[in-house]
Amino acid sequence: MLGAIEAGGTKFVLAVSDNNLENIERISIPTTLPQETFAKVFDFFDKYELEAIGIGSFGPIDINKKSATYGYITSTPKPGWKNTDFLGKMKERYNIPISWTTDVNAAAYGELKKGSATDEKSCLYLTVGTGVGGGAVINEKPLEGYSHPEMGHILVKPHPKDSFSGTCPYHKNCLEGLASGPAIEKRYNKKAETLTDTDEVWQIEAYYLAQALMTYTLTLGPEKIILGGGVMHQKQLFPLIREQYRELMNGYVETPDLEEYIVPPKLSDNAGLTGCLLLAKEEL
Ligand code: ADP
Ligand code: ZN
Repeated sequence: MLGAIEAGGTKFVLAVSDNNLENIERISIPTTLPQETFAKVFDFFDKYELEAIGIGSFGPIDINKKSATYGYITSTPKPGWKNTDFLGKMKERYNIPISWTTDVNAAAYGELKKGSATDEKSCLYLTVGTGVGGGAVINEKPLEGYSHPEMGHILVKPHPKDSFSGTCPYHKNCLEGLASGPAIEKRYNKKAETLTDTDEVWQIEAYYLAQALMTYTLTLGPEKIILGGGVMHQKQLFPLIREQYRELMNGYVETPDLEEYIVPPKLSDNAGLTGCLLLAKEEL
């Protein structure tokens, strides 16, 4: 039996499946303070004889096995969660193999094995929601090094019609600061979901996302780019992003047909959890 935690800043989704990934039970709990949240996690998993657990967590997290704080959530602004030994708490309770990576790396892994990228050996998953975060799987392994990718904070060139410098407290003109849901809301004083019919919003949004995707192609060369998260529910964005990407790239690097290359997640909201279960299974 396998356990999975998709740990988000708003909610934790917990699942138990059999070793073929058939669902046994699944719940969602709000992310409150760590102690209370972990008590609920333990209540849920204690009912089962788990063999391995996969965790995909919001971050930044420490994934460097040589680090003294390996397994920690590190510098999050989320109250109470800074420097939380997530993996340590889980290991103390369950003496079984536990995999540990970011929520978006897990989602990329889920999409590679069971979603939009099943014919590939690499893919990139970018979520555009409350924040912007990217994960990648290269040669069928989640991309990790000294640290994990922080693709949401790359710098982008401002759109000529956009004088907003962004919502990120760390950087001016970073992707997350300019293209996340809250960035759209701050720029227009309206929730992103209410702006569907205002073309300029999505032209500007696509301009930023296309720049970022071009950078990801140039640096990582993924075989598929998957765009998820709340903002990407605006389906008109896909053709706009492909168009601007084509213009920016200007034929320099060849990619598959953009209709096939820049796509929504096939697993929709299950990408992360599926990836966590698969990564748990890998531990066996
Ligand atoms: P989270 O990032 O917490 O996992 P979401 O991916 O749903 O959650 O992102 C929430 C953000 O996405 C909010 O800023 C919200 O305004 C925006 N959003 C959610 N749904 C839509 C939509 N249909 N169209 C545009 N923006 C949306
Ligand atoms: Zn930033």
